[in-house]
Amino acid sequence: MKSLRAIATLTLVIGLWAPPAAASEDSDVQHRPPTAAELEAAPLSLRGTRGAPHPDCTNGVPQWLHEVQPGEHLGLIAGRYGVRRAELVELNGIENPNLIRTGQSLAVCPEIAPRKQKLVTHVVASGETMTEIAERYSLSIAELLERSGSELPNLNRVRVGQSFSFLVDDGIVEAFLPPLPKKVAKKTKKRGGKGKHKRSKVSVQLLGGKYMHIKRPRLAFGTAKTVGLIERAVGQYKRRHAKGPKVLIGNLSKEGGGKLEPHLSHRHGVDIDVGYVLKGETLSSTRFRGVNQNTLDPKRTWALVKAFLDTDEVRYIFMDYALQKTLYEHAKSAGASQDDLDELFQYPRGRGRSHGIIRHWRSHKNHFHVRFEK
Ligand SMILES: [Zn+2]
Repeated sequence: MKSLRAIATLTLVIGLWAPPAAASEDSDVQHRPPTAAELEAAPLSLRGTRGAPHPDCTNGVPQWLHEVQPGEHLGLIAGRYGVRRAELVELNGIENPNLIRTGQSLAVCPEIAPRKQKLVTHVVASGETMTEIAERYSLSIAELLERSGSELPNLNRVRVGQSFSFLVDDGIVEAFLPPLPKKVAKKTKKRGGKGKHKRSKVSVQLLGGKYMHIKRPRLAFGTAKTVGLIERAVGQYKRRHAKGPKVLIGNLSKEGGGKLEPHLSHRHGVDIDVGYVLKGETLSSTRFRGVNQNTLDPKRTWALVKAFLDTDEVRYIFMDYALQKTLYEHAKSAGASQDDLDELFQYPRGRGRSHGIIRHWRSHKNHFHVRFEK
């Protein structure tokens, strides 16, 4: 089993990693290939699985049946598989999204691979806090409490030596592992050009203007659909935040698409890098700058991210984990429901846990990366 996974991981590495090119300070450079451990927790969507694609899954993956656990709501379940609530509602013909029963089976076309679960027993060590325990198992405190049930009724009453048990994720379900390497690769190549998924042309250039600053116009090509969605999202954001700085747009793809070093993606005209909205004097910068809690404008940045999400065509957003925390807390104080938060954010489950639409991937401290549906 171990060696199988090693092969699978290797395939992923080859597929994903582009060698580093001349690094500029403000691009999302990958300085080295991801390690096996990083790939295990990779925030990327599934492309190609060992099991056969299910006809109802337009993303080309097998279908998975999720059994609803106590305390789970639809947003949490959607987040677990990196999909939107609306997708689950449609796939399962759910009439009332607020009425999900424990034990009910829900069909999912996952973007984040389903994981097996195992029961662990934790013995509280001296000086250990609940936050530390939750982090150690890549769970939020709410999940830890829910999963350990009646054994742990009170957050403040854990004692040294006390033990409690709960379920944690334990490896990808086999049908969702990457396919095994095939010996007939040559044959497949000959049939090339007859691919099942005809890709859209990367032929439309995103133009700047009143609302957007395009950093590198020659690398601002996308599919017609992508460019239309970006214009729609930026338009929605600007109607509400007219006074803010121009939206800072980094790379999309080059004309015609193809490998764009040093990026891992940005090949098919469906990826875009967008600057966080900053406050204060850095406001009118035309470069991506590293942000922190003090320089990020959470209100405007959340409005911008939300405008992209509202297109209902976003597959995922990569964002540094620390900045997720700032946006999560802002969104919560601005009235986002727990259902919304659990659907959209990986935070507070730890940067190693694949969950939600907004996920951590290194090199996203100075911009966020939006991947649209193909
Ligand atoms: Zn990017």
